[in-house]
This record gives sequence, structure tokens and C-alpha cells, in this order.
Amino acid sequence: MKSKLSQPKSANLHLHPHAGKIPAKVREQRHGHRGCVVWLTGLSASGKSTIATELERKLFMRGCQTFILDGDAVRQGLCSDLDFSERDRHENIRRVGEVARLFADAGFICISAFISPHRADRDIVRSLMNNGIFIEVYVNAPLSVCEARDPKGLYAKARLHRIPNFTGISSPYEPPLKPEIELLTEHLTVNEAVEKILVHLKKTCGFKTTTKRGGAPSPVRWTDW
Ligand code: ADP
Repeated sequence: MKSKLSQPKSANLHLHPHAGKIPAKVREQRHGHRGCVVWLTGLSASGKSTIATELERKLFMRGCQTFILDGDAVRQGLCSDLDFSERDRHENIRRVGEVARLFADAGFICISAFISPHRADRDIVRSLMNNGIFIEVYVNAPLSVCEARDPKGLYAKARLHRIPNFTGISSPYEPPLKPEIELLTEHLTVNEAVEKILVHLKKTCGFKTTTKRGGAPSPVRWTDW
């Protein structure tokens, strides 16, 4: 039996969510692909945001519905009340997982870029989704490589003890055991990494790598990209 503590507060609120009138299949037909979550996990500076933005650009160019949930952005809004303590990291990922699920339900290819260091937290997010919808992508670069890149200067600060609970330095990272995709960004270019994800999406969410759908959103010209 579950303990009282594990019961969500909403359990006793007599909630009856109203079902919508648009079947998932109809959304899929309109979008040309299924909704899913591409969950990028890895150390800071492993390449999550770089890969996420290029993946989003490529999907968008092909007419896909897509959106990025980025760790730093979410921490300025939805999760601005949370810090990097173990408890708050868990809550951060729980909230993001729920948002990602909503995007997938809306038919989006939702790309999330979060360190998400704990396996159990990622597994909880996976368990929120139907089979095949959660695509865990391990953005894998050795700590030494991430530290040498250090695009935001965070490792330098962490080594000087100016940032507490820094993943890889003073806080653990638990790599995925069976990710759908592993990207060794020490050896792959950004394009090669993105291509690996696109090939997987083609197989799992019906996305077509060759067909360009939709048009350029005016006034942006494709040549600007
Ligand atoms: P994260 O979001 O994981 O913290 P970022 O994407 O912000 O990481 O930073 C990764 C850094 O590593 C960027 O400066 C990027 O240009 C660089 N980089 C070098 N090679 C790669 C690669 N193959 N994939 C992704 N990023 C790379």
C-alpha cells in the first residue's frame, strides 16, 4: 500500500478531467507526425542545448510542431521557486516531465534539455508517457571535455566552491542504463548528433526526414537560417 506521503494532494479533490473532442490520431494527421518527448540528459556543457536548438530548427523547417523546454529558461519561470538541492531537483524534473507530457499530448515533438541527473526522476517521467513516446537521449561527453568547454564558466566557479551541488563536481550524475540514443559529443559533430535523433524520430513518430512540409514563417527567409 502506498504511504500517505506518496499520495498527491489532488487525490482527494474529486477531480473529473473533461475529455476533448479531438482524437490523437486526428492531431497526428494534421501535424504529419506523432507527439513525443526527446529528453536530452547529460552533464552541463555536454551539448544538450546546442543539439536541442539545431534539432528544433531542422524539425521546424520540415513543418513539424516542435518546442524546446530548456533548463535555464524553466528555472526563471515555472521553477523559479526551486534551487539545486536534491529535493528541488526532483521537483524540477517532475514539473518539466508533466509539461513535456502536455506538449506531447498536443502533438508536439517536445525537446527537453535538462541535466536531469537522477535515473529515478527520468524513469518517472518516462512512466508518464505511452510506450515509445519518451525518447531518452544521453548526451555523453567526459567530464574533462565538458570542463574544457565550460561555455558558461560554471565549472571554473564550481571548482572554486562558488556553486554548490554542481553536477559532476559536487553532485552526482547517474547515466542512463538503456537510453534510446547515446550521443558521444566528443566525437560527433552537432549535425551528426542531430541526424541520429532524426533517424530515430523517423522510425518512432512517423516524422519524414525527406519531405519538407509547411512554409517559411514570414518575414524570416530560409536563407537567414
Ligand atoms: P549543455 O546544454 O549540455 O549545458 P551547451 O550546448 O550549452 O551544453 O554547451 C556545449 C558546448 O560544447 C557549446 O559551446 C558547443 O558549441 C560545444 N560543442 C562542441 N562540440 C559539440 C558537439 N558535438 N555537440 C554539442 N556541443 C558541442
